[in-house]
Amino acid sequence: MKIFTTKKALSEHLESLRSEGKTIGFVPTMGALHDGHLSLLAAAKQESDVAVCSIFVNPTQFNDPKDLEKYPRPIDSDIAKLEQAGCDILFNPGVDEMYAPNEQWHLDLGEMENLLEGKFRPGHYQGVTQVVYKLFDIVKPDLAFFGQKDYQQCMIIQRMVDLLKLPVKLAICPILREPDGLAMSSRNIHLSPDNRQHALVLSKTLNWLKDNFDLNNIDNLQQECFNKINAEPGVHAEYFEIANGDNLHPAVASTKSIVALVAAKVGNTRLIDNIIIS
Ligand code: AMP
Repeated sequence: MKIFTTKKALSEHLESLRSEGKTIGFVPTMGALHDGHLSLLAAAKQESDVAVCSIFVNPTQFNDPKDLEKYPRPIDSDIAKLEQAGCDILFNPGVDEMYAPNEQWHLDLGEMENLLEGKFRPGHYQGVTQVVYKLFDIVKPDLAFFGQKDYQQCMIIQRMVDLLKLPVKLAICPILREPDGLAMSSRNIHLSPDNRQHALVLSKTLNWLKDNFDLNNIDNLQQECFNKINAEPGVHAEYFEIANGDNLHPAVASTKSIVALVAAKVGNTRLIDNIIIS
């Protein structure tokens, strides 16, 4: 695996690969890699000639400075995992390589910016689109791979691609889970053994909802799920929303595409999860 820390060296290398007619698949990450990330890499390897992964803990998408500070950065074991998984190229820039001081960015993300994650993490999606735009501009991928785990993020990035007419196709990959159902996340390592158990309430409640789903009872089911999560010791739900999967508005009886999304604090660790109902 070739490792690049500068935009210039990476662009030059990718340009030469592109001139040989190779297609580029890209997996942007913030590192602390788990099998969920590696499943995106496997898809990138399958669908493109060259698989590029980036590891960059992007400061502009963190609304909580403590969260940024404590975000895990195990770069040596990440590199080992990428080598093992057959990644071709890693881009691992520092903050100064990516940002000029006081750089400004704003994209019209519409109402989705203020829903769900956007409501609880003001500015988060501006930071996400800012860094993903930069990464796309450097890597110029044919295909970029994102996880359904961050459902709203996938919608936001698709909106950016449409708005700016970026020449990249997005591929959305399924959520990888631990054997007991917990969605894999870089943040799971912060969970104490007790909270690791309590965190199972998220996936259990989402599965319960799917098994008991009834289009005519959406409001009650949503409230019941919210209550189930809050009833778990150490767990505090921020939202539990049964939404229209196409625009994230609250689902109604006639909604065709339905997704349930949850965010909760488990101890001090904020986790998100979701399930596609239909
Ligand atoms: P992150 O490093 O958390 O920014 O995530 C990088 C990419 O990996 C994003 O597209 C995430 O949606 C995806 N991802 C995170 N967790 C999972 C998971 N459990 N299964 C599949 N993809 C995931």
